[in-house]
Amino acid sequence: MKPIKIVGGGLAGLSLGVYLRKLGVDTEIIEAGFYPKHKVCGEFICGVSQEILSEMGVDNIVTDSVHHRDMSWWMDDAVVMQDSLPQVAWGISRYKLDEDLAGKFEQLGGVLTTGKRFCSDELALEGVVYGSGKRKDSPKKGRWIGLKIHAVDIPAGEVQGIEMHVGKRGYMGVCGVEDGRLNCCGLFRIDQSLKGRGVDLICQYLEANGMVSLAQRLSSWSVDARSFSATAGFALGEQDTSLASRGRTGKAGAKAFCIGDALQLIPPFTGNGMSMALESSQMAAGWIVRYAGGELSWEEAMSGYHDESAAFFQKRMMLSKGMHPLFFNRFSRSILKLSAQTGVLPFEYLFSQLRRP
Ligand SMILES: Cc1cc2nc3c(=O)[nH]c(=O)nc-3n(C[C@H](O)[C@H](O)[C@H](O)COP(=O)(O)OP(=O)(O)OC[C@H]3O[C@@H](n4cnc5c(N)ncnc54)[C@H](O)[C@@H]3O)c2cc1C
Repeated sequence: MKPIKIVGGGLAGLSLGVYLRKLGVDTEIIEAGFYPKHKVCGEFICGVSQEILSEMGVDNIVTDSVHHRDMSWWMDDAVVMQDSLPQVAWGISRYKLDEDLAGKFEQLGGVLTTGKRFCSDELALEGVVYGSGKRKDSPKKGRWIGLKIHAVDIPAGEVQGIEMHVGKRGYMGVCGVEDGRLNCCGLFRIDQSLKGRGVDLICQYLEANGMVSLAQRLSSWSVDARSFSATAGFALGEQDTSLASRGRTGKAGAKAFCIGDALQLIPPFTGNGMSMALESSQMAAGWIVRYAGGELSWEEAMSGYHDESAAFFQKRMMLSKGMHPLFFNRFSRSILKLSAQTGVLPFEYLFSQLRRP
């Protein structure tokens, strides 16, 4: 079998690595950071099936997580809808998840190099998969900032299930993860006038976006300051998968083999990005194994995978990109708010359409 190198040991790269090792493929992962590490993420997984997780050998996600069934949706600081989730959401921190998967990959005989950033001329193109996450140097000049922090020692009954808060130009999800921690993670339109870091910066963004009571609750909770993470400079939607954009030369229009956020970045309000990372890795593995076994060339495997994944994810990408701006326009927000309050909003339908092919 031919070997595979994966650039990036996030959820997409690690789950692909574990699955490939399970299938007997020699695999190396090159990760710029170290484990464990906190990452900007809402930290609930909802959409990917338990069967896919078991098939890939990453079903510890389910066993180690908090299982959420309830959600409440807040707009402009007031609850507009409370409902059961049509499907369970698994709350687990990236701090734990990525470290556990990295350990599993190594146990299965995978080679993991940490603290090394992939440089453009270092690797041969063939057999290289990019799971390097969202591009922070997007030429589309991303206008968003993602911020997250863990609250700890939360009084019992303070938060029921997952809370999704929508404000003027941003939203924040509040979700219980392991060890009684509460992950508070938001996406906001960048506001250069807001300065600082940690919970103070997050509260400034919440207040500036009209989520004042959430800011008050968050500032009353104890937080784990080391869990604060921030990310900016990315663009939502399909990512540039050309080799040229990764500092590589090659035939005009030549593509890199991309999985997870490196392929496409779904707007985070869907809570589907991690499921997509897992689903894209599962799909990629089928094509990679056929390459590794000599049945397909690298180009054939890559174009087969890119075509299959474009068709598979097309509907949820289009729907989520259409819905995302509706939260931030005054007119569409009031319609959304009213329809949620009156029970007219087809929540279950939208939820399933944002998850199914
Ligand atoms: C604000 C926000 C909230 C979100 N909330 C949720 C949620 O609740 N539920 C959900 O399912 N999804 C959520 N998502 C999306 C989810 O976080 C991503 O879809 C998921 O992390 C994608 O995993 P990935 O492995 O593709 O990328 P990442 O997890 O970003 O991993 C990429 C890895 O590649 C490494 N890397 C990058 N470049 C290099 C290089 N050159 N060399 C070596 N290593 C490199 C990085 O260090 C990183 O570890 C959210 C996203 C945001 C922004």
